[in-house]
Amino acid sequence: MNWYYANEGQQLGPITQLEFDRLVSGGTIQPHTLVWHDGLASWREYGRLTAGLEGAFCSFCGREYAPDDMIKYGDAFVCAQCKPIFAQRLKEGLPLPGQVEYGGFWIRFGAKFIDGLILWVVQMVFYFPFMFFMASNEPSETGSIVALIMLYGIQFLFAFAYPTFFIGRYQATLGKMACGLKVVMDDGGRVTYLRAFARSAAEILSALILYIGYFMAGFDEEKRTLHDRICSTRVVRK
Ligand SMILES: [Zn+2]
Repeated sequence: MNWYYANEGQQLGPITQLEFDRLVSGGTIQPHTLVWHDGLASWREYGRLTAGLEGAFCSFCGREYAPDDMIKYGDAFVCAQCKPIFAQRLKEGLPLPGQVEYGGFWIRFGAKFIDGLILWVVQMVFYFPFMFFMASNEPSETGSIVALIMLYGIQFLFAFAYPTFFIGRYQATLGKMACGLKVVMDDGGRVTYLRAFARSAAEILSALILYIGYFMAGFDEEKRTLHDRICSTRVVRK
């Protein structure tokens, strides 16, 4: 491990552990001397470092700072740079880091299953009049094709309209509501209708690559699917 230390305003090093120890015993490095080694986010006073007063991590930017340089909110630390965002979020009532619980793969799978059932029922509602029309009118070949295109068109549109409307208005589809989930922006804010629509479009991509886009949620720290990554959204528990 290479050490660096400050002496009379100068940054010195790198020096080896052996050289460092020699400087400590020789009195060049005092408890108040600022030191740094690889892996430390900031310079520390040598005395504090050896006393085990290690740094803590800012819950916003994830950088490590000495606890003295941060403010504490509950169990979370916030560094000086992130303090304004923190204050802003607190004011707006947005969730703070550490307070957010992401919806994992299986609960989301459950929500998707319920939405799938709902979509299926609705598609049947369109399907039966179509079958009735075909059976009673015996339309020409062209007529049948037009009717079929209309049927698929309506079903396709509904598959988009459903999540766009529910997520845009209620932040969750019926399946997600039932599972206590909601879709939010990466900063915890509301998802607009346009974003909800884009997210449904991006979901096609997640499905196209053998549903790998969905499985990604199981391996992500923030449980993001591919469409969450594309649209900067998160699925959280209410
Ligand atoms: Zn920070």
